Amino acid sequence: MSLGSWMRNHPHFLEKVYRLTERTVIGLDPVFNKLGYDRMNRWLKGPEDLAKQVVFDCRMCGQCVLHSTGMTCPMSCPKNLRNGPCGGVRSNGHCEVKPEMRCVWVEAFERSGHMPVYGHEMLFINPPVNRQLEGSSAWVNMLTGVDKEVPKAWAGTSQRVELILPAEGWSTGQ
Ligand code: SF4
Repeated sequence: MSLGSWMRNHPHFLEKVYRLTERTVIGLDPVFNKLGYDRMNRWLKGPEDLAKQVVFDCRMCGQCVLHSTGMTCPMSCPKNLRNGPCGGVRSNGHCEVKPEMRCVWVEAFERSGHMPVYGHEMLFINPPVNRQLEGSSAWVNMLTGVDKEVPKAWAGTSQRVELILPAEGWSTGQ
């Protein structure tokens, strides 16, 4: 098992690391602003790419939703689906396109149950990926808010719309 697979199978730990990183980046926003977001993007995208590739098999979409998808990168789905699996998931939970691979969304759903803080976000709808952000730093895009922009047709709706919530609430499996 690779280091990345091992870490992805410990989503609670990754959630804690994500939360700490998120708070740090938000706390540093005034510094980023002063230095310039373009410059920070140039400085950060390399290290971010390296770290996320090792752990998440990241494709640098620039619009990271890992914490909403069980710390499982949706871009590693062969169809790049951002809102749950296609209809081709095999009965053993494997991918229609790559039969040797478990469906990204089966793993995402399982792992989200071990994430007490963000696990419920599995039930939110993500906007379509903006290909113009590919290769840029998702952290910087989070600060500027460009990762939350939605197509014009979505005007008046929020970026994330709750799809469905079970009446008894979301169980984290903890
Ligand atoms: S969602 Fe995007 S930025 Fe986040 S790990 Fe996947 S490809 Fe990388």
